[in-house]
Amino acid sequence: MQNPFQNAMAQLDKVAKIKNFNAEFITRLRQPDRDIRISIPVKMDDGSIKIFEGYRVEYNNALGPYKGGIRYHHDTEINEIKALAFWMTLKCAVANIPMGGGKGGITVDPKTLSKGELERLSRGWVKKLADILGPKKDVPAPDVNTTGEIMDWMSDEFQKITGDKTRATFTGKPIEKGGSEGRGPATGFGGFYVFDSLRKQLGLPEKCKIVIQGFGNVGLNAAQIFVENGHKILAISDSKGGVYNSNGLNIKKLVEYKKTNGSLSNFPESKNITNEELLEIKCDLLVPAAFENQITDKNADNIKAKVVLELANGPTTPEADEILFTKGIPVIPDVLANSGGVTVSYFEWEQNLKNEHWSEKEVFDKLFPLINDAAQKTFEKGKEYSTDLRCGAFILALERIEKKML
Ligand code: NAD
Repeated sequence: MQNPFQNAMAQLDKVAKIKNFNAEFITRLRQPDRDIRISIPVKMDDGSIKIFEGYRVEYNNALGPYKGGIRYHHDTEINEIKALAFWMTLKCAVANIPMGGGKGGITVDPKTLSKGELERLSRGWVKKLADILGPKKDVPAPDVNTTGEIMDWMSDEFQKITGDKTRATFTGKPIEKGGSEGRGPATGFGGFYVFDSLRKQLGLPEKCKIVIQGFGNVGLNAAQIFVENGHKILAISDSKGGVYNSNGLNIKKLVEYKKTNGSLSNFPESKNITNEELLEIKCDLLVPAAFENQITDKNADNIKAKVVLELANGPTTPEADEILFTKGIPVIPDVLANSGGVTVSYFEWEQNLKNEHWSEKEVFDKLFPLINDAAQKTFEKGKEYSTDLRCGAFILALERIEKKML
């Protein structure tokens, strides 16, 4: 796999050639404020002790407290977390919320742990990092393989250690434990708002044929929202592969099917496809919603979508970006497309600090104008500098961060 942090720095270098930012500012952004690696001892159910490697990267807090999710994955390593923390810094700036960028993780396949082991590991991560976390310092959230329940364990552990009762240190908590209405589907909703805001400008039809990679929080919620708004999902996949129907999949039935069968394959009235095949299907909108490095110089030439909407972080490599740009396929970048998640996390933090609870309608009424504004300003920056949407979003974000830092 390509080093995601090198990809992120290649993106930064490209933008620094397009717009003349202060050189020291760009140099500063080439390293995080700090990256912390921890070892977490966990008592396993059989009585043995196993040591896990964990991380927290605090990239930049010019705009506000460090903010960013915690990822549990067997491939997670420090370069991935650094890249994700860098992208979070830009994402919060694009969304125009007073938060900085951070990210955390643990190298672990959570499916191999019992619930008790998972809880002890999650609490262990907090024990090692409690000193640097806090509502005004660093505010984590869920990411791949981390859930509301895990955020609740972490929030509880933080409260036990520090006595802080605001519950504003972790977002993405269950609603009854101080979570925000709408946080679950927020990233999918935000992605839909971005699409809706830019649809006409990007020449997409009113009703689109859509292909989605990923069937987790982001991919599945996005699929449901697109279907509710009259679009068709031609194909969707999880880590084991996907299913395709040229007339559109019944997502409700597919969710039930996966619950019963444990996988998507052999879903009635559909054809099984691999993740590689899925990316190359002819469609209006291709939505990578799983992992980094999915669209690369190996397959970018075969992409037949009219537009790519990056709901995953870092799914397109810098080389693939160039190929898609040349082919005239706009890529709506992650730092804009999936910013709905962190924006509603910021709303949760604000509700916790003010001891308020907003309705789902209030949450989405506040989300829409922010996302719409971010999408339109990104588009304008792209046009102003005759560049792609990723560079447009980076310029918008870097201008805001530079102003604050200088
Ligand atoms: P998740 O753990 O809920 O789901 C991940 C999905 O990806 C699962 O369906 C899994 O089966 C699938 N998957 C794993 N490997 C795959 C592969 N090789 N090919 C296809 N599918 C594969 O995670 P999530 O929260 O939905 O996050 C997905 C992406 O969205 C990540 O890049 C994450 O950083 C990004 N993101 C998430 C949020 C959020 O609010 N959860 C916010 C912004 C960005």
